[in-house]
Amino acid sequence: MNKRDYYEVLGVSKDASEAEIKSAFRKLAKKYHPDVSKEPDAAEKFKEAQEAYAVLSDENKRRQYDQFGHSAFSGGAGGAGGSYGGFSGFDFGDINLDDIFDMFGGGFSSGFGSFGGRSSRGSRKQKGPDRVIRIDLDFEDAVFGCKKTINLTLNEKCSDCGGVGGHGSKTCDKCHGSGTVTGQQQTLFGSFMTRTTCDKCGGSGTIFEDTCKTCRGTGRIKRNKDIEVTIPAGVDTGNQLRISGKGEAGVNGGPNGDIYLEFYVRKHPIFEREDNDIYLDMPVTITDAVLGGKIEVPTLYGTVKVSVPAGSSSGDKLRLKGKGVSDVNNGRKGDMYIILNVITPKKLSRDQKKLFESLAKTDLDDSKEFDKIKKYL
Ligand SMILES: [Zn+2]
Ligand SMILES: [Zn+2]
Repeated sequence: MNKRDYYEVLGVSKDASEAEIKSAFRKLAKKYHPDVSKEPDAAEKFKEAQEAYAVLSDENKRRQYDQFGHSAFSGGAGGAGGSYGGFSGFDFGDINLDDIFDMFGGGFSSGFGSFGGRSSRGSRKQKGPDRVIRIDLDFEDAVFGCKKTINLTLNEKCSDCGGVGGHGSKTCDKCHGSGTVTGQQQTLFGSFMTRTTCDKCGGSGTIFEDTCKTCRGTGRIKRNKDIEVTIPAGVDTGNQLRISGKGEAGVNGGPNGDIYLEFYVRKHPIFEREDNDIYLDMPVTITDAVLGGKIEVPTLYGTVKVSVPAGSSSGDKLRLKGKGVSDVNNGRKGDMYIILNVITPKKLSRDQKKLFESLAKTDLDDSKEFDKIKKYL
């Protein structure tokens, strides 16, 4: 369908001034506003006028329109549409009086006091808000999973009224069942008939015979409760676990919100975790490092005997395959890395000292590492 020329829509000439455009639009807005007009195609006409005004009242958009016509805002090839992200986001579908005022600029409405605000959305179902709860876990609990009881204070559905807020229903006496109330507004454009959602019944047209005393009509009550949760093996700091539908009660019978558990894992005295791998700084004696030996190493899964190869140095890594953490998603196990730390004894018995002294007379500095330095001595 071809759009009408914006100037034609407003009934002004191509060289109309800003004031002429504004005044033309005001006339049309009064004539075609859907809340007021009796014209059969008022909504269409109003929308058309609103769109024309949005473009012609903006200096930049008007210039674009003069140059490219409607294609300036269609986003199609050849037009300048791409550069008008803000404009194309304009919502022409939802027209009410507030939008007209918005279009004349924010500061404008302040002189008129309250315009009553946007009408309430009535009794729309709404999902309850989500909650994020921080859970501190011991290292092993995170690695192996655990069960936890979490104490929460939540807004829950009132069981006395089933969450609706009252008992028995009758026709709303404020709107007489229509769900809307009509009023008059004095504005810059003259007086408007306005129709807003009835605040007493929220637009449903019915109210309760008795407001629920337990929840005072809100349909929700605060309740403290314990929730049992199973925390899977392998969670790590920053991971979130969603517990669907256990959060705050929804509004107007909407579904419950969700609870998100966010984990913080405490440090372990000796194990360090990186993703699913575990690192352990392992002290070894100088003789085990030199001669090789079997040492006992603690792991997440108990003590294991590990062979230290002869000639090991500090920083050498030994891998224990599959002795890491199970991946929280697929259960695949990480590895454990033992980082050797050769400890030089500080206190020696007389015998030990003698042994080292005789060892000192032998040649121990013939490895490549020493050669590299010797060049510079
Ligand atoms: Zn009502
Ligand atoms: Zn209740």
